[in-house]
Amino acid sequence: MAHTPQSILKTVFGYDDFRPLQAEIIDSVLNKNDTLVIMPTGGGKSICYQIPALIFDGLTVVVSPLISLMKDQVDQLRELGAPAIFLNSSLTPEAYRENMTLVRENKARLLYIAPETLLKPTVLGLLASARLDCLTIDEAHCISEWGHDFRPEYRQLAEVRSRFPKAVCIALTATATPRVRRDIKASLRLSDAGEFLDSFDRKNLFLRIAPKTDPWRQAIDFLNASKDGSGIIYCATRQQVDNISDALVRNEFSARPYHAGLPETDRTRNQEWFIRNDSGIIVATVAFGMGIDKPNIRFVLHYDLPKNVETYYQQIGRAGRDGLRSECLLLFGQGDVGKIKYFINQKQGQEKKIAYDHLDAMMDLAETDDCRRVPLLRYFGEQYAGENCGMCDNCLRTDEDLVDLTIPAQKFLSCVKRTGEIFGAVHIIDVLRGSENQRIFKHNHQTLSTYGIGGEYAKKQWLSLSRLFLRKGLMVQDGEFGSLKLTDKAWAVFRNEKKVLGRLQEETRPKPAARPADIDYDPRLFEGLRRKRKELADAANVPPYAVFPDKTLMEMAAYFPQSEASLPAIHGVGEVKLQKYGAVFLEMIRDYCRENDIEEVPKPASPAAGPRPSASSKPPSQRRPVVIGEAYNDGRSIADLATEFNIKQGTVIDNLYRYVQEEGGVLRPDGMEGLISVGPDLTQRAMESFEELGADRLRPVFDALGEEVGYDDLKLIRLIYLSG
Ligand code: ADP
Ligand code: ZN
Repeated sequence: MAHTPQSILKTVFGYDDFRPLQAEIIDSVLNKNDTLVIMPTGGGKSICYQIPALIFDGLTVVVSPLISLMKDQVDQLRELGAPAIFLNSSLTPEAYRENMTLVRENKARLLYIAPETLLKPTVLGLLASARLDCLTIDEAHCISEWGHDFRPEYRQLAEVRSRFPKAVCIALTATATPRVRRDIKASLRLSDAGEFLDSFDRKNLFLRIAPKTDPWRQAIDFLNASKDGSGIIYCATRQQVDNISDALVRNEFSARPYHAGLPETDRTRNQEWFIRNDSGIIVATVAFGMGIDKPNIRFVLHYDLPKNVETYYQQIGRAGRDGLRSECLLLFGQGDVGKIKYFINQKQGQEKKIAYDHLDAMMDLAETDDCRRVPLLRYFGEQYAGENCGMCDNCLRTDEDLVDLTIPAQKFLSCVKRTGEIFGAVHIIDVLRGSENQRIFKHNHQTLSTYGIGGEYAKKQWLSLSRLFLRKGLMVQDGEFGSLKLTDKAWAVFRNEKKVLGRLQEETRPKPAARPADIDYDPRLFEGLRRKRKELADAANVPPYAVFPDKTLMEMAAYFPQSEASLPAIHGVGEVKLQKYGAVFLEMIRDYCRENDIEEVPKPASPAAGPRPSASSKPPSQRRPVVIGEAYNDGRSIADLATEFNIKQGTVIDNLYRYVQEEGGVLRPDGMEGLISVGPDLTQRAMESFEELGADRLRPVFDALGEEVGYDDLKLIRLIYLSG
């Protein structure tokens, strides 16, 4: 059978189409033209040398500085049935010798190797006797002193290369300014002909930059919305890393720290834990990430401001390598700007100037009202061609979102004034909303004219308004006590000389990250498949994504393949994986479909240009939560629905919750109240706790109420809460 790049793409990797540039690059390499590839992280560089390696008769050597990644990469290739091995200092002497023998006997097609290992005379000697078809230089920017990660051993690769004139050379990197590009080409003597420069735009990353107003709450909201996918939180200092990761653990998030101050063993353990798990948060300083090749990182949160755009770009770039939607949120605080400036001011001359330029570029990005991609790509010398990317906070805003907030501003500001400018936002809001808590009576604030005049907004909305008023400079906040004080601008608002226009944000809450919009799948089946994948991965001692990428499981949970014949159509199912794992996953899917009365949905043929499945498993009108939600709103009771659908009441309630959460439905509140077994006081307290702690998880509310309200009641109260 003739192996074409296209057939290998399908049979080995299980993918239908090449991504932009991949086919051309592979052709170039197969024609033995030296090739330079500049493609953003996640662009799909690996396939560009892996497919030629599987076609060439001889050996492909892959030089990479990332020793920690090699085992992973090689494991993934072996999972695909590709004969790959590696040589570096982490191997035991026996394993090292064994791999040398495999090369000598021409039994490996891909050899991953660290530069210092490659430079050893024994290794060079061995390769001289082998047939070398391709020399791959990964992370090629390491060759340049102008890059951010110069490795002196890389300099000597030019000499190595000249020893193997018959081997084609392919150099790849994700970050290269024009200067670094020139350097790579000059050192490796690559001609212009084989240069492939992909756009730096990472289309699947949703970029959001929000004012850092209440970082901890913002972070929690962001994490809750990201459900249980895995992600990274970047902080500026080790101290901050420790604090945040401890606080997350106390709040029952699965999180671990990573910074240079931790013992090597802890760092390795935490990194390994992160890579091996499908959910989990690494809280880290910049020290984390270089050796990370995890494709399914679903979010990156910048708790503090990165020093420059390049760092920011690299760090967000670790998310979504698998091409699925991933969320990036940066909390942008003026205080952080001040801290960075403080450090810059310790520098001198040119260095200081460069650092200021970098910071300015970062500020441009953070404060722009334009598409975030415009300043971001400009930094890499690229002009963003699109008009509205649809994947950044600014592009999703419209001018219609701007509403006249003068009246709420007047209410709020006058309440600040009347309470003596010594209280923080929470108390002001309590006064406005007519709360009956202790503090109100203690200060006699129930007698104020502003008491109870702000019932039109929920607490959360008032909080976001108060941050908006701060941002607009209508008031200032005491750094230590959080008390609010009016500015001159506030007086102009009182006198009706100045209108307050703004966006009434619900919250800085992104869409659930674990559920990219482009494929609509059954989350419960997905969860089950994911658990199975983890089991299999642990048993094989490989990371879960080496078994199947997330997208494979999503497609399985969207198209419900019922037979072995339908599996190869699923993304990421090549021949070897089909044999190895097909049966296990099929069985799970079949069982699930039988229990839930679901039929297979044929996977639509992918359009020629780029695979972007947009088919949903069922039209909304047929999805169960929708059917149940709508029937309920028509007046049917929960008990009726349980009988009608022959399911438990709890299942009806779960479906109603999904109707609200996943389908954006709204429920009539009156059908739930009667089912709640606790009194109105506790119900009210539970509602307040949902308001305060968020409604994505029940546990925090359960705990906050001293376990007085059971989960069944909490589920009902949450539904009432969410239905507003
Ligand atoms: P890079 O090295 O450029 O950061 P990778 O080579 O690791 O990117 O590829 C990123 C992800 O994209 C991997 O999960 C890979 O399997 C996947 N991928 C690469 N090419 C394709 C393709 N043509 N179709 C679908 N997925 C692909
Ligand atoms: Zn945009």
